[in-house]
Amino acid sequence: MKFLLFVGFLGAVYFMFFKKKSLTPPTSDTSTEEAMIPCVKCGTYVQVKETFMRDGKYYCSRECLES
Ligand SMILES: [Zn+2]
Repeated sequence: MKFLLFVGFLGAVYFMFFKKKSLTPPTSDTSTEEAMIPCVKCGTYVQVKETFMRDGKYYCSRECLES
């Protein structure tokens, strides 16, 4: 009986961990990849993966970055 409880407990923990792990990464990935960030120079909104970053600031293009 104790063994069954232990197995059930392990199963519950594993299920919760697995569920949490499988749910969290996709949502965080899409939110960071598709998030729109304003260029600090001209104010144009661009996707994070398309931005140029310098000193923790986001720029929409190389022109904005270097000017
Ligand atoms: Zn810009």
